[in-house]
Amino acid sequence: MAPNSDLRIAVLPGDGIGLEIMDACRAILDALEGRVGGYTLCYTPYRAGAALFSETGTDITDEDFDALGHADAILLGAIGDPTVRHPNGTEISPHLRIRTAFKLCTGLRPAKAYPNAPRRLRDERAADIDLVVVRESTEGLFHTAQIGEIIDDLEATEIMKITRPVCEQLFDETFALARRRKAQGGKGKVTCVDKANVFKAMAFFRKVFDERAARNPDIEVGYNYVDAQALDLIRRPWEFDVLVMENMFGDILSDLTAALVGGMGMAPCGEIGRDHAMFQPAHGSAPDIAGQDKANPTAMILSAAMMLEWLGERHDIDALKTAAKVLEAAVSEGFASGRVNPKEFGGPHGTKETARAVIDIIGETT
Ligand code: ATP
Repeated sequence: MAPNSDLRIAVLPGDGIGLEIMDACRAILDALEGRVGGYTLCYTPYRAGAALFSETGTDITDEDFDALGHADAILLGAIGDPTVRHPNGTEISPHLRIRTAFKLCTGLRPAKAYPNAPRRLRDERAADIDLVVVRESTEGLFHTAQIGEIIDDLEATEIMKITRPVCEQLFDETFALARRRKAQGGKGKVTCVDKANVFKAMAFFRKVFDERAARNPDIEVGYNYVDAQALDLIRRPWEFDVLVMENMFGDILSDLTAALVGGMGMAPCGEIGRDHAMFQPAHGSAPDIAGQDKANPTAMILSAAMMLEWLGERHDIDALKTAAKVLEAAVSEGFASGRVNPKEFGGPHGTKETARAVIDIIGETT
C-alpha cells in the first residue's frame, strides 16, 4: 500500500442530529473500508458547536481548530442550536470560520433523483435530475455576515464582495467537476448563474467566468440570471448539469434543488479549497428531531462518499475512488429496493436502520 493511503480524517459530529448521523456514517465507513480495502482512514473526533459553547463559552478550542488544518479532510455532522446564541444574537457557527480560515470557497451541492425518493415535480423527467449547485462559500453577500452593521437603528448594510482569485479557483474547480462528470456520461455543461444585468460585482463574476471558460473549450457554457434560474429549476431542472453562483444565491437555490429530489436529508455537500476540504450535509442540526432516531442520514452518507472521491482524486488512490462508487451505489440500491425508506419521507426507517441497510447492501455487493 502506498504510504499516503493512511489518511487523517477530522470528525466533528457537532450538535443535534449531527451526532446520530455521524455515528451512522462512521459505522458505514468502517464497514466499507473493511470490504473494499486498499486504504486506511484514521479518524480523530473533535468537539465543536453550540453544546460545547454552552458548556465552556467557546465553540471550538484554538488547539482543535489548528488541528483541523493538519487533517487530510474534515467530516462534519451539523452545527447549531437556535436556543444558544452569541450576545449579538447570531448562532454558534464555527463551521463558517472553518470555511474562511481554510479558504473552502467551492461549495459542491449535488441534487440527484434517487429511485423512490419523493419527487416534487410530477413530470416523469424529474427522475433524470442530476445536477450540482456550485456555491462560492467564502465571500459574496456573506462577506459581511459577521461584521455588517446597523447604523443608528435607521439603516443596515452588507457588502457583496467578489474577488478575482476566489472566482478563478471557484471556476477552475467547477470546470474540472463538469469534465469529471462528462467522463462518466454527464452533460459537460456549466451554467453561470448571476445578476450581471444589475450588479457590478456580478458583471465582474461573469467576466472572470468567461475568462476561465475560454480555457475549457470542451465544456459547454450557459448563462442564467438568478431569478430566471429559480423558474427554470422548477420548469426544467433535468436539463442542467453544473451551475455556479455567488454565495447567497447558492445558499437559496441549493435548498430548492434539495427539495426537488426529496428534502434536506438528501442534500450532501463538499466544501473544497486548494489545500483543505470539509464534507457535511447541507442541512442543519434539526433540533426538533434530534435524539429520536428520525434523521435521514443519506445526506451525511453521500457527503462521506464525496469525501472518499475527493481524497481518491487528490492522492491518486483508486481504492478510495472505488469505495466512493460502492457507497453511492449502495444508497441508490437501498432506495430502489425499498430497504432505505426514511422516516423523513413518511417511511419506516430511522437513522440506525437506514445505516444497517446500507451496510448490508455493501456486504452483498462487494
Ligand atoms: P441551518 O440554518 O443550520 O441550515 P435550518 O434552520 O435550515 O438549519 P435544518 O436544521 O436544516 O434547519 O432543518 C430544517 C428542518 O428540516 C428540520 O426542522 C427537520 O425537520 C428537517 N430536516 C433537516 N435535516 C433532516 C434530516 N437529515 N432528516 C430528516 N429531517 C431533516
